[in-house]
Amino acid sequence: MRSLKLLKFLALGMFATGALTLPAAAQLRVVATTPDLASVAREIGGDRVSVVALAKPTEDPHFVDAKPSFIVTLNRADALIEGGAELELGWLPPLLENARNGKIGAGAPGRIVASEGVRLLEIPTSFDRSKGDIHSLGNPHFMIDPVTVKIVARNIANHFAQVDPKNAATYSSNLTKFNTRLDAKLTEWQKQLAPYRGAKIVTYHRDFIYLAQRFGLSIVDELEPKPGIAPSPAHLAQVIGEMKRNDAKVILVQPFQNRKTAETVARQTGARVLDTPQQPGAVRNTATYFDMMDNLVHALATGLGAHT
Ligand SMILES: [Zn+2]
Repeated sequence: MRSLKLLKFLALGMFATGALTLPAAAQLRVVATTPDLASVAREIGGDRVSVVALAKPTEDPHFVDAKPSFIVTLNRADALIEGGAELELGWLPPLLENARNGKIGAGAPGRIVASEGVRLLEIPTSFDRSKGDIHSLGNPHFMIDPVTVKIVARNIANHFAQVDPKNAATYSSNLTKFNTRLDAKLTEWQKQLAPYRGAKIVTYHRDFIYLAQRFGLSIVDELEPKPGIAPSPAHLAQVIGEMKRNDAKVILVQPFQNRKTAETVARQTGARVLDTPQQPGAVRNTATYFDMMDNLVHALATGLGAHT
């Protein structure tokens, strides 16, 4: 009780001296659901923002362990960036309800939906979650397509400018710099993967379709029978058959997926399991979006190259 009084006294004192007004360098408090979105936000926000990601780089973005501390983080946020397309449907809504922060409420300038304006692939013709498919609004794994990331970066810059108009010019020039760098890197990545155009790949989850389309890879099948449904022996037997028929030699997995299952299938098909994390920070020296993509493209080129 005494400490509370002391706090009030101090607060009043600060108010009286004007110390409560925000210093000129106050940063926007930005929360991103996943590290890839956080990385792009840092590129656009520069030193005008402080960004935290809720999901760990090694966590499945569909099934993030929702800690109570996230509610506090969201309560204090000036902006929230989510992937959208129901990527975070399984864990974000209850956190937001508890955070009670109007600044990041649906439709507020501080609520940034990355998928806005993105042409989603695989939008189902009928909505049926009962079958367990967790991609019921279309495929939400678009961040590994560098061209699509430009749309995401633009969304972030637009919203940062609305929330923090005095720094709008900075966000706009950071966006231009980001796009220029991304264009240069895309040319590099395309060159690295050009020899493997048409290469057959298998993935654990249906999370590489945007990358496959951008770089001309051909996805034979997934170990999951449907997005979010664990592999069954019957389905795996079918995948093994397809891999043999199509001569698919690589299986792509992420840190949170069952590598043992992938290894079993690989043993029976003479394929290799490739670690291809889609989140910055999942492996060493991949702190940024660019580092993560460098690592991913390198892993793919190396893995596919070993079989040609
Ligand atoms: Zn998914």
